Amino acid sequence: MINDNINVALIGNPNVGKTSVFNQLTGLNQQVGNYPGITVEKKIGFCKLPNNVKANILDLPGTYSLNASSIDENVVIELLLNKNDKLYPDVALVVTDVENLKRNLLLFTQIKDLEIPTILVINMADRMEQKGITLDLPYLEEQLKTKIALVSSRKGFGIDELKKLITTYKTISSEPCLNASVIDPEYFDSLRKAFPSQLLYKLWLVITQDVNFLNLERKEIQSSFTKSHTDLKRLQQKETIKRYQFINDVLKVALKVDISIAKDLRSKIDRVLTHKVWGYAIFFAILFIIFQSIFEWSKIPMDFIDSSFASLSSAAAKHLPEGVFTSLLSEGIIPGIGGILIFIPQIAFLFLFISILEESGYMSRVVFLMDKIMRKFGLSGKSVVPLISGTACAIPAIMASRNIENWKERLITILVTPFTTCSARLPVYAIIIALVIPDEYVFGFLNLQGLTLMLLYLLGFGMAIFSAYVLNKIMKIKGKTFFVVEMPNYKLPMFKNVAINVIEKTKAFVFGAGKIILAISIILWFLASYGPGKNFKNADSILRSKTENSTINEAELENKIASYKLENSYIGIMGKAIEPAISPLGYDWKIGIAIISSFAAREVFVGTLATIYSVGGSDNEDTIKNKMGAEINPITGQKVFNFASGISLLLFYAFAMQCASTLAVTRKETNSWKWPLGQLIFMSGFAYLVAFIAFQFLK
Ligand code: GDP
Repeated sequence: MINDNINVALIGNPNVGKTSVFNQLTGLNQQVGNYPGITVEKKIGFCKLPNNVKANILDLPGTYSLNASSIDENVVIELLLNKNDKLYPDVALVVTDVENLKRNLLLFTQIKDLEIPTILVINMADRMEQKGITLDLPYLEEQLKTKIALVSSRKGFGIDELKKLITTYKTISSEPCLNASVIDPEYFDSLRKAFPSQLLYKLWLVITQDVNFLNLERKEIQSSFTKSHTDLKRLQQKETIKRYQFINDVLKVALKVDISIAKDLRSKIDRVLTHKVWGYAIFFAILFIIFQSIFEWSKIPMDFIDSSFASLSSAAAKHLPEGVFTSLLSEGIIPGIGGILIFIPQIAFLFLFISILEESGYMSRVVFLMDKIMRKFGLSGKSVVPLISGTACAIPAIMASRNIENWKERLITILVTPFTTCSARLPVYAIIIALVIPDEYVFGFLNLQGLTLMLLYLLGFGMAIFSAYVLNKIMKIKGKTFFVVEMPNYKLPMFKNVAINVIEKTKAFVFGAGKIILAISIILWFLASYGPGKNFKNADSILRSKTENSTINEAELENKIASYKLENSYIGIMGKAIEPAISPLGYDWKIGIAIISSFAAREVFVGTLATIYSVGGSDNEDTIKNKMGAEINPITGQKVFNFASGISLLLFYAFAMQCASTLAVTRKETNSWKWPLGQLIFMSGFAYLVAFIAFQFLK
């Protein structure tokens, strides 16, 4: 090494072509050794530059940032912190890959903060045309306060310009390009005052990491400016976010990627998958297939779980001694656990498909495709997955919102997803539509019942989008969206990643939401199995004496007793108590009971009505329907389920937050009771209002 040569350090993320640039600059004039005491390779080369300037070129180990986490990275930091090192650079070349500028520039902004004259080398320029990338170099130079060399170390172009640029190192700015001390101004201010002769960012690096800092008493700095480990980590995170925000803002203007002019195979596939027409067509076709499969494949395991728990619960009732505990077990706990486990097939299949789409790289294209539209409503492109998954079940759908980085967009997605028509609404819709909408055709082919069902789906989706729009306008949460430049390469999904994701999501549901569903099932069991007063207790003898002379058979009598008990149970009393509140919507106390009990899950509505109307076995749909259809309101003398009250019920179930499990998941995902409560009040309040208006208009 020659001492009056200038020192040039090559710094960059791994795989940006740093070694290739090094080889271009130095040719065969290289020495390879080790850094003292460690096995990290030390490569120095020599380079003759124009105007008789000679340079030592030091190829430093690849590093992602100056937050050291390996010995390789330590080497870089220790050199840059030590002005007395004989290799301390006169100029640093930060090498970046034009396809990964956003990630690569993080390190660049940190090096700039060390006030070393820095040249930004943007490598792999030969790929720009193929990828449809254009750069506004003057703007970049101005914002980043640097000089830029656009090179291709593979094709060898730009290298001569780079050499020339290095010779002007004395005129290259050493000013930082952003002010990192804004992450904690007070703290940095006191740091500056305590060590006025030291560079602020150097002090910060010394405090945050375990590196040797020769000239300064490291202990002294660290002891007088200690912060807890978590505080330091938090500040470091804040620093990284600040840097990315700066980089995003700059790249938004300076970097354009136009895949419509790109030429490689990946871009050609991208062009189809993100096409204005084909992109959507392919996406909806894939969705269609996924939902068909989820419904088809889940049916068998769901039926299996359903029947297993039903027989388990009747076995428990039969074989255990009669009593409170047996009743709790067979009517509360076992059905409660069954009600949790029955969701597992749908959740598992949904996440199987989502993780395959994510792992393969396709999901990033969908997000890109939908982003513009969704953003108008305060949502993100990534909200598409939850909103669509919501047609199966809001629980996995809300869990699928986890990959939305921006908190406000994620929160809005969580809050509006329950409006999409989930599969639990189907049995409710099915029976009410069958009761109040005529099975007729309009225009010869449009079935009115089918049309109503479709309108209900559209209504749910429209309401989700509309409330997102409103929430976006009224919520005062700040959140910055990261600018998406990079799309991952397509690849075959890794089985292990997919499996882990499916298992994690399923576990999160069972142990998170499951607990609350179970608790509510037990409460509902209690409310339906106990009642105050004599009527409940003596239901058996009352009904037996009433029906003594009729020809009623034992099964029918049992049903009548169950129905009478329910009427006089706590939940029955609650149903009667809320009757004044729900009669303006067209409902009586029996529907009131069904509404209260179906708060655990909407599909309970049908089962509860079946018990109330003393219909043995809820599989006998026709009989339930007939009984419900014949029910007369004693006060008005009208049918209870008429067109007005039917539409009112449909609208109520379309909008009301009748799902304890969803509230439980929202609680878990937002880590606060505030949001699920808001959801409950808003959705159910809105449902009440709409159902009220509908009934009053139609009656
Ligand atoms: P390092 O890890 O930063 O030292 O990167 P290397 O020099 O080992 O290069 C990483 C990969 O990028 C290698 O496969 C190189 O062939 C490739 N590469 C390097 N420079 C260029 C370039 O200018 N254009 C293209 N297309 N590829 C390059």
